[in-house]
Amino acid sequence: MTAAFVLTKSRAKVDVYEASDQVGGLSRSLHLWDQIVDLGPHRFFSRDRRVNSLWLEVVGRDYVMVPRLTRILYRGKYFQYPLQAMDALQRLGLLEATRCVASYGAARFKQQKDCSESFESWVTNRFGRRLYEIFFRNYSEKLWGIPCSELDSDFAAQRIRKLSLGAAIKQLAVRPQKNKHRTLVDRFAYPNGGTGAVYERMAEMVNERGGSVHLGAPVKRVVTASGRVRGIELYSGNVVSCDDVISSMPLSSLISRLNDAPEHIREDAQRLTYRNTILVYLEIAGEIDSRDNWIYVQDPGLTVGRITNFRNWSPSLYGDSPNTILSLEYWCDSGDELWHRSDHELVCLGASEFRASRLASDGANVLRSHVVRIPRSYPVYQRGYKDILRPIQDFIRNVEGLQAIGRYGAFKYNNQDHSILMGILAAENVAAGSAHDLWQVNSDFDDYQEACRIEETGLVPAPC
Ligand SMILES: Cc1cc2nc3c(=O)[nH]c(=O)nc-3n(C[C@H](O)[C@H](O)[C@H](O)COP(=O)(O)OP(=O)(O)OC[C@H]3O[C@@H](n4cnc5c(N)ncnc54)[C@H](O)[C@@H]3O)c2cc1C
Repeated sequence: MTAAFVLTKSRAKVDVYEASDQVGGLSRSLHLWDQIVDLGPHRFFSRDRRVNSLWLEVVGRDYVMVPRLTRILYRGKYFQYPLQAMDALQRLGLLEATRCVASYGAARFKQQKDCSESFESWVTNRFGRRLYEIFFRNYSEKLWGIPCSELDSDFAAQRIRKLSLGAAIKQLAVRPQKNKHRTLVDRFAYPNGGTGAVYERMAEMVNERGGSVHLGAPVKRVVTASGRVRGIELYSGNVVSCDDVISSMPLSSLISRLNDAPEHIREDAQRLTYRNTILVYLEIAGEIDSRDNWIYVQDPGLTVGRITNFRNWSPSLYGDSPNTILSLEYWCDSGDELWHRSDHELVCLGASEFRASRLASDGANVLRSHVVRIPRSYPVYQRGYKDILRPIQDFIRNVEGLQAIGRYGAFKYNNQDHSILMGILAAENVAAGSAHDLWQVNSDFDDYQEACRIEETGLVPAPC
């Protein structure tokens, strides 16, 4: 949607073909029981001026600043997230805290050799084995479905960069009144109509500017000849000629839909793996006495990975409803038994795990439920995945007029801001003949970013 939104500012003729009946993809919003919900938590955040400006251009003033509170549930206790040394050590108790600090000291002393490789060694080297096992292993293995020793450290580098227990322990020495950062409230801008409103609005603006957004129009084939894009074929049988295709369908699907992709590239693409998400929505009578936007569930006894409380996002989501909607996230592969459970079985699991989380009092009443299954919601950064990806990237680079962008589209563990940036850059490559290397977005260190953030008053510069 972003690429189309930017391209319609030029004289390009733009058509968007969307397989489903709604734009927004994983960032779409749903209307449920007179309320609006997202697919799990969707906090928008970027330090990139281009991304933030575009977001504001679309949303205008129709957003609120939401205070962020997220915590970790571990063995019945709630820990602050991101982890804070004092809080974690206090809640773990003296004995466990001593073990954690000793284990951290041992890790500092003896760094593991393959620290550039696996998620396990990356985290262990920074936090120590004990904290890794308490706060990282269980959750990460739930999410990715593979042992952390098999997971590439890219995931850690992208999501838990700049955290270190060493720095945190140093903070303990700082007297609270001198530590200004302790009182800073983390806030984020959130559109009043839900996250999906951003993309719905983009679609409206694309249509108003002469582009067309075709819903329920899955692409069957990308037509190429002599190393360049010629058009696309839809499942309806229509073939549409065009000069450029910007694809955000799963990378493996794109490769299988390219008529002249060589066999070894097709085989490589099939080796890329994705994780599925199941969302169990529960409507709970009344309000819940908790301010968390979402909770990471690290408790080994629970299958659920994350619980989102939409009542703590924006009043515009719940309107006049007195009730609370929660979503419980479960992750699995397509072959897993969990993926094939009936809605009824999933709702029973969700309701019992909601009770076990003790997020609400024992008497909390579940009124209604809804299940959403999302295939291929997470690209899995299994160790060695970059070696599989490289020849695929090279192949796509050599097809003139073809660009692959987005989360599963480019096989990148993107947040919205990364996918928006990829859309902006892809559009510039088409409209202005720029030569942005899209594979570099959300890789290593995004140091091209000009730091800024969205505040109540709009865009403000922020210190790096
Ligand atoms: C549970 C969860 C929580 C998240 N939380 C956050 C968060 O807090 N903050 C944040 O910024 N991001 C979050 N994200 C990530 C965010 O949702 C994604 O980064 C973003 O939606 C990716 O956008 P995209 O356009 O790259 O891909 P998608 O949103 O996956 O969109 C791809 C689109 O392509 C369409 N498509 C697929 N195949 C075809 C085909 N053959 N023909 C035509 N159309 C096709 C799909 O229907 C879909 O609409 C979260 C994601 C999940 C799953």
